Amino acid sequence: MTQAEFDIAVFAGDGIGPEITRPTLEILRAMAAESPAYDLRFKDLPAGATLYRDTGEAFPADSLSQARAADAILLSAMGLPDVRYKDGTEISPQIDLRKELQLFAGVRPVRVSAGQASPLTLPEGREIDFVLIRESTEGLFYSQGAGTVTETEARETLLITREVSEKLFEFAFALARERKDEGRGPGRVTCVDKANVFRAFAFFREIFDAEAARHPDLEANHAYVDATALWMVQKPWDFDVLVTENMFGDILSDLGAGLMGGLGLAPSADIGLHNAVFQPCHGSAPDIAGQNVANPMAMFLSAAMMLEWLGRKHDNAALVADGARLRHAVDAVLAAGVVRTRDLGGQAATDEVGRAVVRELCAGKTQ
Ligand code: ATP
Repeated sequence: MTQAEFDIAVFAGDGIGPEITRPTLEILRAMAAESPAYDLRFKDLPAGATLYRDTGEAFPADSLSQARAADAILLSAMGLPDVRYKDGTEISPQIDLRKELQLFAGVRPVRVSAGQASPLTLPEGREIDFVLIRESTEGLFYSQGAGTVTETEARETLLITREVSEKLFEFAFALARERKDEGRGPGRVTCVDKANVFRAFAFFREIFDAEAARHPDLEANHAYVDATALWMVQKPWDFDVLVTENMFGDILSDLGAGLMGGLGLAPSADIGLHNAVFQPCHGSAPDIAGQNVANPMAMFLSAAMMLEWLGRKHDNAALVADGARLRHAVDAVLAAGVVRTRDLGGQAATDEVGRAVVRELCAGKTQ
């Protein structure tokens, strides 16, 4: 068997970033070392608020070009509240990456399996397993930093384009089909909008309906964003794939993280036609940085998404299988409830959680 090699650009970032990156790379290295089907080559790239504080540069051009050329990008968290550009805005190379690489599909899985803590009490036999796709390059974030403010009024512009919306919906239906094939959902895509009030969302919905018509084997429906927030709490097990505008997605994805019991368990991916960034939903958590108490699970789950995405893109079944294996190992450690970080009510250190996941991966192999 020929071994496929993949270059992974790694941004260890700021705050808890380096602490959660270390065990993630150990896990990935261990998995790759065992696999005859693939190898991963990691390249550490500088960027972020700490770099800006030390050098005056937040995102070196060379880091961007190496990230662009890599097969996938793994990012922990960037930005520190007290390190800012001269105009007062935060340092966020992760947002620059989304724009530069046109990563239009922000994929936010929301999963709560039986036995996993959630603020919701799930009815017997129910599990939450849906995916929220947040458009990540336009919408209400389009005018970020370019809105106008006068003495008497402030204006921001929401932009929805046909070009990006078509790619977004095509991606959403492809994901619903993948999940259906894996037995993880009924193959249903829900367009989340506010088409009853805004013409821009009626336009968004019209493009969604045109894409839906190309997939007669999949279900398609609509929901208003306010009702979606209610249903995410009342009956989240009914959702499969939700697709929405940037700002709506920003808000709903934090609600999704809340359903999962907190930010420490929420992974994400930002995917474009050529590149993809995998990163936990949480920020750099400077309040707990350097203490070895951060929960690394969201980063492990983001790395699992990376393996599955790489595997599908390159038709490498071993990568897809290892992505699922890592996800199951994280689930098993959470379900056992013994090794938990402080945010989940436990006492375990960040690196202990990493070791528990490695043990689970080894145990899974010998079963
Ligand atoms: P950003 O704006 O960059 O997304 P934020 O200011 O919203 O960041 P986070 O950095 O995500 O916030 O932190 C929010 C809270 O959640 C903090 O109290 C932080 O300690 C906690 N937190 C975030 N990530 C983790 C984690 N991996 N493990 C434990 N606690 C976390």
